[in-house]
Amino acid sequence: MTDLTGRTALVTGASRGIGRAIAERLASDGALVAVHYGRNETAAKETVAAIQRAGGQAFAVRADLAEIAELDDLFAALRDGLAGRPLDVLVNNAAVIDYSATIEGATPEAFDRLFAVNVRAPLFVTQRALPLMPDGGRIVNVSSGVTWFATPEVVYSMSKGALNVLTRSLAHTHGGRGITVNTVSPGITETDMNAWLTDDPEAARGVARIVALGRHGQPADIADAVAFFASDDGRWVTGQTLEVNGGLLLGPPSAA
Ligand code: NAP
Repeated sequence: MTDLTGRTALVTGASRGIGRAIAERLASDGALVAVHYGRNETAAKETVAAIQRAGGQAFAVRADLAEIAELDDLFAALRDGLAGRPLDVLVNNAAVIDYSATIEGATPEAFDRLFAVNVRAPLFVTQRALPLMPDGGRIVNVSSGVTWFATPEVVYSMSKGALNVLTRSLAHTHGGRGITVNTVSPGITETDMNAWLTDDPEAARGVARIVALGRHGQPADIADAVAFFASDDGRWVTGQTLEVNGGLLLGPPSAA
């Protein structure tokens, strides 16, 4: 049962990509969803409108997660939208990648920005969300497969490694309240972050060859896994990382 009727959720980075799909899925399961965005108000409004057209409930909340002071705005808007209700589900999804932040190309500024959005923001969003969360609440952190397969974008990978640590630590400290904390770790998924997948058909074919199920992921493939952790069905799973990637790099490419 992934019914979330009567529950509420905050999904960061829900204006586009995987976050949008998560927001739509949790809303279709019955949750009132706070659709967080950073810059793209139009896309956030589209997400809210799509949820409402499908019969769900949602409202938008804005904050640049690179700016710690803006968390005040996020939580003020969240409290307004929840109108006295608790926050049952938090999905820390928003993140940025910097393809130039390799070992040769990384700068202190790029490092600080990636860690501000991908690590500092989830930590402090969670810190502020926990007092709003009832016992039995749910936290899902969206990490990445780059924590176990090596890529040149080392700063992004390091930030996702830190997020995985946050999951395990919080699962340990908050289990007594019945709060589960898990990581969903997408593989290669078609979003704006991976524009190269749609720009270059050969690149997409190359990805398909290293994925057991023979294609790259779509945002809904990830959202459905998040819905499990957010639901009552996920009640006995905490501190875990689920790789949601169609069988990425399971072995040498098959001849089939
Ligand atoms: P995306 O399409 O680039 O969307 C990123 C989202 O995060 C947008 O909603 C964006 O808001 C928000 N965001 C980015 N920077 C922000 C900031 N400074 N302040 C506030 N919001 C900000 O990304 P995605 O591919 O859906 O990725 C979602 C999650 O999956 C990320 O954690 C990513 O690391 C992870 N992931 C993705 C893949 C993949 O293949 N796509 C693979 C592994 C893991 P605005 O629209 O307002 O800018």
